[in-house]
Amino acid sequence: MDRLFGTDGVRGVVGSELNPLFIARLAYAIGSYFGEGSRLLVGSDYRYGNNAIKRIVEGSLLLAGLKVYDAGYAPTPAIQYVVKTQGFDGGVMITASHNPPEYSGIKVIGPTGIEIDRDEERVVEEIYWTERFRFASWRSIADRVEEYPYVLDMYVDAVVREVDSERISRRGFKVLVDPANNVGSLTTPRILKRLGAKPIVINGNLDASPARYPEPTPDTLVETARLVKVYGCDIGVAHDGDADRAIFIDSEGRIQWGDRSAPLLIKHLVLNRGERGRVFTGVSSSTIVEDVLKPLGVEVVWLKVGSVDIAHAMRRAGDALCGFEENGGFMYPRHQFVRDGGMSTALFLELLAWENKSASTLFDELPRLYVLKTKYRMSRDQALRVVEFVKEEFKGERMITIDGVKVIHNDYWVLVRPSGTEPLLRVMIEAKSEELARIILERVEKCVKQVVPQ
Ligand code: MG
Repeated sequence: MDRLFGTDGVRGVVGSELNPLFIARLAYAIGSYFGEGSRLLVGSDYRYGNNAIKRIVEGSLLLAGLKVYDAGYAPTPAIQYVVKTQGFDGGVMITASHNPPEYSGIKVIGPTGIEIDRDEERVVEEIYWTERFRFASWRSIADRVEEYPYVLDMYVDAVVREVDSERISRRGFKVLVDPANNVGSLTTPRILKRLGAKPIVINGNLDASPARYPEPTPDTLVETARLVKVYGCDIGVAHDGDADRAIFIDSEGRIQWGDRSAPLLIKHLVLNRGERGRVFTGVSSSTIVEDVLKPLGVEVVWLKVGSVDIAHAMRRAGDALCGFEENGGFMYPRHQFVRDGGMSTALFLELLAWENKSASTLFDELPRLYVLKTKYRMSRDQALRVVEFVKEEFKGERMITIDGVKVIHNDYWVLVRPSGTEPLLRVMIEAKSEELARIILERVEKCVKQVVPQ
């Protein structure tokens, strides 16, 4: 059975892949999965075609006999928070997150606010492919979609409630916000104002042709980072399209990846907020987190790459302090189990308010490792064979093998794994020196050549 869901939701190019027939059929399958009478909250970010997609989704859900509530434009974490707290049976978020502007997609949210898990996705896919749709009786079909314009307020309130707003307000932080012309512009500036901060917003209007590429990375944030320094901000924050990620830029205008901001946030949770629990992250995150957390007695649980799996693992575990991804997704279970760009921003300000140090000083206190990332084009089978050779090459070292292989040594770590979405082998190395990183890469390349001779 062909998969419709990727790592996070169903994605496709608007118009061709996400055409009316496909969308209606998928929405009908989602409606059949939840069942007649279920209450679903539907939201959307700002992209080409999203308004049209939403109408098809909502109409299909109505005809499947569901009660449909329309939240309008909102960040994914806002929809997720309201689904969880307001007793909805689930939700649908129309977004392609960080993908290019020609894409959109559909995320299906369960009653816990987390995207449905892999098994549940399979159930939806099976209904889709076998066309085992559940037809609703004509009497049970609601005559309209209910407007539900409360999501942004509920979400902003919840985030602000979670932090010490008095302590933060006393500092009067100046914060640069870059929501990539998308829905983060509806909430993050409001959160900041409520926390007594002065937001300076760039790329802040809703625009389906965003001025900045929707994925916040060191390549796409060059101008944003420059402005953080120019305006003398205490911190900068950049979101992806649906604002579940937050990448921070320090007061020196340096872009800090998610696995550098997360250790700082976690230290804050433990030392300043007095919270305990285990930390959950994907194997692609830096081992710096272990170096920082070991002295505090905080255990790190390494998982397969993918935020949905991390969120479900945290919920099952019951003792999660937080979860994170290196791409800027930070999950704080006291608020909700999923990535939340607004929540991580509020927590970062609280950290700055406690520490009385600049953001760049705090980041400078973290260990510095030299980073090397590369990829090799090959089939998934070939990639899996390379992984086996790498295990052999580094025999005797500490290894995590749940997603490719990650070798962890005192002076370096290396992750070798097949891409989840493309015919690629991905290699990530962090080492105490550039020279050591190159030596490790040579050892990995030796393994690559045994499978794919160049
Ligand atoms: Mg996203």
